[in-house]
Amino acid sequence: MSKRCAGVSRLLKSCCGGDLRMHDLLIVGGGPIGASLALALRDSGFTYRVLDARTTGGLGAGDRTLALAHTARLIFERIGVWERLASVTPIDTIDISQKGGFGLAQLTAREAGVPALGYVVRYGELQAVLDDALARAGIAVDFGRTVETIRTTPAQANLTARGPGADETEDQAARLVVVADGSGEALPDIHRRKIDYHQHAVTGLVTAAAMQPGVAFERFTSDGPVALLPFESGYALVWTVTPARAAALLEMDDTEFLAALHGHFGDRVGLFTSIALRKSFPLSLQFASQVTGQRSVVLGNAAQALHPIAGQGFNLGLRDVWSLVQLLLDTSRDDIGSDRQLAAYANARRVDRWAGVGMTHGLVQAFASDHPLLAGPRGLGLTLLDSIPPLKRAFARTMLNGLR
Ligand SMILES: Cc1cc2nc3c(=O)[nH]c(=O)nc-3n(C[C@H](O)[C@H](O)[C@H](O)COP(=O)(O)OP(=O)(O)OC[C@H]3O[C@@H](n4cnc5c(N)ncnc54)[C@H](O)[C@@H]3O)c2cc1C
Repeated sequence: MSKRCAGVSRLLKSCCGGDLRMHDLLIVGGGPIGASLALALRDSGFTYRVLDARTTGGLGAGDRTLALAHTARLIFERIGVWERLASVTPIDTIDISQKGGFGLAQLTAREAGVPALGYVVRYGELQAVLDDALARAGIAVDFGRTVETIRTTPAQANLTARGPGADETEDQAARLVVVADGSGEALPDIHRRKIDYHQHAVTGLVTAAAMQPGVAFERFTSDGPVALLPFESGYALVWTVTPARAAALLEMDDTEFLAALHGHFGDRVGLFTSIALRKSFPLSLQFASQVTGQRSVVLGNAAQALHPIAGQGFNLGLRDVWSLVQLLLDTSRDDIGSDRQLAAYANARRVDRWAGVGMTHGLVQAFASDHPLLAGPRGLGLTLLDSIPPLKRAFARTMLNGLR
């Protein structure tokens, strides 16, 4: 072999392992979670690829707005995408109330000692900015690849992906496969518990006659919560309803829809004046009972998909990412995907995951019921939250940073 060929061969081996397709990591799903992980590992020196079922420039999950917590901002700053998000709208105040009952709590950024209680961004824009950052960083993303099977041995994980052509398949292997496919379906060996809430979230962008810039409204009603998040010059709406009501709301013309929303939400921002981009999403809690398997780990919605009641799902997923990145960067290449490393990851995420799931599910149970005996305790809870500053600060801190 010539010196030059030997050099190329060594390069391929160091890039891909002894087998041309052997990597340190493979990331299944380049949605906001998988893409953030790939960007956070940019300077690690590890070899890795992202495989995504999307076509280049496509959207995986349906477009929606996301409320990002302060920790999410810090992570996005670290991976160099925050300043590229043009539509980010800060939340200065969160106003929590219940329809047909007493009790009101207002949390402010000033009281919590942070520049903003959160930031609202559009999923589609975030995905586009992350895709662009991956391309600029030269990180390999295989679009149009649907991972169909993952098999693991004590030494490595092997996956088979379909695409980009209908009849094409390819096999790749890595020390660790990270599943961020939004559902966990790519790794059926990890058991997921599902609780169907029998509710849909109707989403859209609305404007109102008495806009209160920077104020997010979370209003609990007997049908479920309705949230208005400040977004650009209007509000992002997340309205929880039964599946039948969701279908009816999507069928209505704009005038009927705005009147129905006003009837339901009340007068806190006056009459609603416009609605755009109406969509509906089924809601459930899905929770992986364990987040690691042999040479494999699930992150983000693949690990836990939450009700959007408190805007926690993606924020929790980003904390999964950060925790895994810290462990990976602290260990040697040979340790990637080892039982020891995966056990440390599962341990590091235990409290925050359970707290996020417990808080979200608890809020759904406490506030979604129209039982008359619950209205009093709920109002009392909101009043106490509003009037005890340390409780308020602790609540705000949990919403902003999770529990670790
Ligand atoms: C109505 C609604 C409102 C929400 N609001 C908030 C909020 O305010 N704040 C918040 O924190 N969270 C919110 N969430 C949750 C948030 O949207 C999710 O947590 C987030 O999208 C999860 O990102 P992900 O990357 O894990 O999964 P996804 O966004 O689902 O991305 C998964 C990616 O994997 C790819 N993929 C799937 N299967 C395969 C496969 N087999 N092979 C290869 N690639 C595959 C897909 O193409 C996609 O790109 C909300 C959710 C809903 C439904």
